[in-house]
Amino acid sequence: MIYDVVIIGGGPGGLSAAIYASRSGLKTLLIEKNTYGGQVTMAAAIDNYPGFGAGISGFDLAVKLENQAKGFGAELICEEVVDIKYSYDYLLKKVITTESSYETKTVIIAAGRRVKEMNIPGESKFMGRGVSFCATCDAPFYKDKDILVVGGGDSAVQEAVYLSKFAKSVTVVHRRNELRAAKTLQKEMGLCRNISVIYDTVVKEILGKSSIEKVTVTNIKTNENKNLNVSGVFVFIGLIPNTSFLSNVILDEVKYVVTDENMNTSIPGIFACGDIRKKQLRQIVTAASDGAQAAISARYYIETARIS
Ligand code: NAP
Repeated sequence: MIYDVVIIGGGPGGLSAAIYASRSGLKTLLIEKNTYGGQVTMAAAIDNYPGFGAGISGFDLAVKLENQAKGFGAELICEEVVDIKYSYDYLLKKVITTESSYETKTVIIAAGRRVKEMNIPGESKFMGRGVSFCATCDAPFYKDKDILVVGGGDSAVQEAVYLSKFAKSVTVVHRRNELRAAKTLQKEMGLCRNISVIYDTVVKEILGKSSIEKVTVTNIKTNENKNLNVSGVFVFIGLIPNTSFLSNVILDEVKYVVTDENMNTSIPGIFACGDIRKKQLRQIVTAASDGAQAAISARYYIETARIS
C-alpha cells in the first residue's frame, strides 16, 4: 500500500493537515507517538482559538480534531517514527517506525515540541510524584496544598491561575524581573489572591524523602538562597522541538525545521507544519493554518510531480 501523505505527529498541526488532506481525497495516514492532540491536551482552558470564545479544554479540542480527521477518512495510528528514508531520484518516501514502515508519496512533519526540564537535583527523583508538567492532569492532587510554579510565559501564568482553584497557595518563581506572559493572563493572575510571584529567582534544588518537602530557590541578583515549603512543583519553562529523528531536513540554529511559506522543507515532497517549524508565533491557530497549507502543498506536489 502506498499512501499519498504520511503525517508525523497528531497535535493541532498534524490533525489539521489530516483533515485537509483526507477531505481533498488524499490517502492519508497520521502517526502519533503518544496522545492525539499532543501538548494541547495539557491545557486546562483555551480561550483564544477562534470559535470558542467561552473557552474549551485542550482535551476536548483534541477529541474534536481527532474525530474530524477520522470522519474525513484519515487513518490514525499510534507508533513512534524513527526515520524518513528518501532519495532525490526515487519519488516515494518511506516512514520508518519502531514497529513497521510506510511507503508514501509525501510526508508532513508535525511532530511538535516537548516540555523542557529544569535539570536540577531532585527533579527526576520526584518526576510524576510531585514534579509535574501538566496542571490539568495533576491539579486535583494538590487540593489545599502549597505549590510552586516555575516560569514566566503564557503557560506558567495560565496554569498558575488554574492551579490556584485547587491549591492553598501558588508561588510563581520567575528568573527575570518581568513576566513574558500576555497582559490579559497577567491581569487574570493578579485577581487570584492565593498567587504570589517571586522575580529574579531560580529553583536550585527539590528536597524531600519520599515526597517533596521543600525547594531551594536563589535570587540571581543577590545570590541569596531560601527554602520554600511546598509539596508540588509545576514546571512551565518552555518547549523544545522534536527534531532529533530528522537526519537531512534543514534545521535552524535552535533545531526548528526551516520551511518556506508553503511549508516546503529543504527536501522535495517533505513538508513541515505547526510548532516544529521555525516561525514567530506558535499557537493552536497557527498550527492549524500551517497544517491546512501543508496538506494542500502535498496535494499540489503529487499532481505536479506526477507520481502515480
Ligand atoms: P515560553 O513562552 O517559551 O516561556 C518560557 C518561560 O520559562 C519564560 O518566561 C522563560 O524565561 C522561562 N524559562 C525558560 N528556561 C528557563 C529555565 N531554564 N529556568 C527558569 N525559567 C526558564 O513557553 P510557554 O509559556 O510554555 O509557551 C509556549 C508557547 O505556547 C508560546 O508561544 C505561548 O505564547 C504559547 N501559549 C499560549 C497560550 C495562550 O495563548 N493562552 C497559553 C500557553 C502557551 P524568560 O522570559 O526569561 O525567557
